[in-house]
Amino acid sequence: MNNIIKITKDLIKIKSTKDNFKARKKTIDYVESYFEKSDLKIKKYLINKNPSIFIYNNFNKELDLLLNGHLDVVDGKKEEFSPREKKGIIYGRGSGDMKAGCAVMMKFLKDFSEQQQEKSIGLLLTTDEEVGGKNGVGYLVENQLKKINPKIVIVPDGGKNLKTIILNQKGILQIKIWAKGVSAHGARPFLGDNAIDKLLNIYNKLKKKFPNPSKRIWTNTMNLGKFLGGNATNKVPDEAEMFLDFRFTKIGDRKKIVDKISKITNNFEILAEGKPFIQKKEANFLMKYKNIVEKELGEKVFFDKVEGASDARYFSKKKTSVIITKINCDNIHSEGEWVEIKEIKNFYNILVKFINEI
Ligand SMILES: [Zn+2]
Repeated sequence: MNNIIKITKDLIKIKSTKDNFKARKKTIDYVESYFEKSDLKIKKYLINKNPSIFIYNNFNKELDLLLNGHLDVVDGKKEEFSPREKKGIIYGRGSGDMKAGCAVMMKFLKDFSEQQQEKSIGLLLTTDEEVGGKNGVGYLVENQLKKINPKIVIVPDGGKNLKTIILNQKGILQIKIWAKGVSAHGARPFLGDNAIDKLLNIYNKLKKKFPNPSKRIWTNTMNLGKFLGGNATNKVPDEAEMFLDFRFTKIGDRKKIVDKISKITNNFEILAEGKPFIQKKEANFLMKYKNIVEKELGEKVFFDKVEGASDARYFSKKKTSVIITKINCDNIHSEGEWVEIKEIKNFYNILVKFINEI
């Protein structure tokens, strides 16, 4: 247990933000050196400056279990990268999201490999989840890890605690839309064609097609995140662009969204996308996992949905069985992020019991 806490704190100290390639690489090197003396096989990847590591015990066989996590964090104040422990809680940037989770999985895999078990397990840790995961889990699952076909994947990166299992995460579709006009002097707008005006019209039409709910319900949403255009008050702008973030609940909704936009404008480009994650709660592996968690915690597990996407979506594409959960934590991506030591321990015990039942 002290070991897991030490790893967690060591990792928090490394400022592995998206702009800090060296630090993200350092987290991967840290993991590599942790497994150095073990019998486990290690593969490191570097995809478009995004380092990842895959540690496994048996490559001739499909994986019985793949553990997946990310070691990158979103930026924060300097002091957040100095971990603090107080009354059973570890504070620090990335503590809950998700360096403690990674530490547990590292320790579990190492301990497991020392027991010479038959089952094949892998641990995949990446450093680009916070920016979409395309060059980490996204790339590796499609290209490098094709043969491993894990039967079950555990991604402790969704929800708020261990008694919550996430069955749905929304799909994501990020789109840039632009409008072109004709520039003119602001005193003579009749000689020009205002691109911002055109784009505002398009936006207003889209808002009617994609109305947002006023409170949390499980439905599709649209957010205008960025709007650019014009550079002087006395000029008619000839260019404008906006960036929209659609989140959708059903796989088929992607096409519906694109079709609706196409009816309003052809000037658009898809910048990033991901399918929704959908897991059936009746699945056998999930029932087993749920029972183990309930015994370990002495509490009832409940199933939930979360709006945000995670790397889990890259596995659901492959029809793999995926468990999304989280070690009890809060204030993710903000000041005062913390993770609970009790649940760090619980999660380790859950993994030990679960591997024996699959
Ligand atoms: Zn995360």
